[in-house]
Amino acid sequence: MIDTIAFDGDDTLWHNESLFSMTQDRFRALLANHLADPADIDRRLLQAERENLRVYGYGIKGFVLSMIETAVDLTDGRIGGRDIQSLVEFGKAMLEHPVDLLDGVQEVVEGLAGRYRLLLVTKGDLFDQESKIARSGLAGRFDAIEIVSEKDPATYRRLLDRHGVDPARFVMVGNSVRSDILPVLAVGGHAVHVPYHVTWAHEVAEPPTENYRRIDSLHGLPPLLAAW
Ligand SMILES: [Mg+2]
Repeated sequence: MIDTIAFDGDDTLWHNESLFSMTQDRFRALLANHLADPADIDRRLLQAERENLRVYGYGIKGFVLSMIETAVDLTDGRIGGRDIQSLVEFGKAMLEHPVDLLDGVQEVVEGLAGRYRLLLVTKGDLFDQESKIARSGLAGRFDAIEIVSEKDPATYRRLLDRHGVDPARFVMVGNSVRSDILPVLAVGGHAVHVPYHVTWAHEVAEPPTENYRRIDSLHGLPPLLAAW
């Protein structure tokens, strides 16, 4: 019997990766004046993002610094100050972008609140995540909100301990197999995968073969919980 449900935020409750891929399109267009191969731009940017995770962590600010670094690198330092300014503006536009909830989120979260203990477990930049949670209008529906720097088994174990949750009665709902499914199964919890239409290359992972469920949208969650 499940008594505690944790939701991921980005691309599970609200759109996020679509904003990154839209900005990456703008980044590619900006660099197209200097360079020919768009595939190379994507590859180098991903490489910079991955290398920078350990210094900046997840989030938009680190993404902007990775774009700048990639632009300087790929143009052999010829990128102009105006273009760098544009990259900074791309980041500000992302940070100020309205929070768009995914289909079904509002009604499903409101329907489950009060019947289950609800947690929100999201990773990334503290300031940005707090701002998005506030703007989502959902903050009051959760019994606890946890903003973490990485979603690995140790993080989930610590969270479950702190909230006194038995892993056997816990389910995590999220879009990332790597962050929301595999580490939760590793600590003995349950997991529901709700794929988003775009996945950041860093988050791509092979789904497990058993012990998890997959639904197309959050509308599928209440019937799944009822049948559990
Ligand atoms: Mg996510």
